[in-house]
Amino acid sequence: AEVVDGDDRPRRVPPGTPVTARAPGKVNLALRVGGLRPDRSHELVTVFEAVALHEDVRAVPCARLECAVAGEGAEGLPTDERNLAVRAALLLAERAGVPPRVRLEITKQVPVAGGMAGGSADAAAALVACDALWGTGLGRDDLLALGAELGADVPFALVGGTAVGTGRGERVVPALARGTRSWVLALAGQGLSTPAVFGELDRQRAAAGDGDPAVGEEDVRDLLVALAAGDPAAVGAALVNDLEAPALSLAPALARTLEVGREAGALAALVSGSGPTTAFLVADREQGLDVAVALTASGAAADVRRVHGPAPGARLVDVAR
Ligand code: ATP
Repeated sequence: AEVVDGDDRPRRVPPGTPVTARAPGKVNLALRVGGLRPDRSHELVTVFEAVALHEDVRAVPCARLECAVAGEGAEGLPTDERNLAVRAALLLAERAGVPPRVRLEITKQVPVAGGMAGGSADAAAALVACDALWGTGLGRDDLLALGAELGADVPFALVGGTAVGTGRGERVVPALARGTRSWVLALAGQGLSTPAVFGELDRQRAAAGDGDPAVGEEDVRDLLVALAAGDPAAVGAALVNDLEAPALSLAPALARTLEVGREAGALAALVSGSGPTTAFLVADREQGLDVAVALTASGAAADVRRVHGPAPGARLVDVAR
């Protein structure tokens, strides 16, 4: 396998060498939710952007399967088969026909249950790290297929960048996106359960007597045009999230968070995925500082991070980084 060093130079590492894989968190620039599928998940069309808040998973040779978690929100997280990284290692071992012998050391930056797919990033990083440690010989497409089995957001964490997701979000095609974007993320004190937010959307739609809308790529076309042009104001105008209304109904305080960021000059503001993280698109560093300071000073955010996108998908990195 290849490890990318500090100067982005690839370096080969033989199987059996401890390795660290890094995978990004995401924001959904567009998230359109359609009807329920036979498997009870919703049909989606989404545009993901990977951002530079990342998860590191170090895979170290070990006589059995072990897992330890450190960093953002690590305290409450399981380290047994309920952990998505552990599940990823077990699935890869089974399919590759190797014993699941690894110690996984997870370092989290992505908030837990924050709507930024941190667990999915852990699964993607675990796949890449264990694949290198065990020398499975599986290809990129095999890892993508395993990722889709683990969770709808895992394939995107492998691919990274800016991409369109369809199906449950697991079918990922890179988008033509020019330039980079600056984001301010407002982290909330508590998480929101993704199934609860989808359930609230279903309840709101039923109460309004609306059937489930059909969703298709035409629903994100304006955004894709703006991304291809690299026009931040047009990108801002095209941001959309069908989960925003149900997330606001379950966490009403988020409405003020969005308002504070908009008043401080953000180009656009939206709930990230199923929330409660909110994302603010800013034109430059100065605007980012204004928005971050306003969010912090108002108490409307428990914590604030300034990040850029797009970030690369899951890959091996030098441990020193
Ligand atoms: P999404 O945006 O994909 O819905 P999220 O960012 O809202 O995800 P996660 O932090 O990925 O939420 O995971 C939510 C739940 O999954 C947590 O409540 C946690 O108990 C469980 N979980 C299992 N493994 C992990 C992991 N490695 N990191 C975080 N959560 C995990």
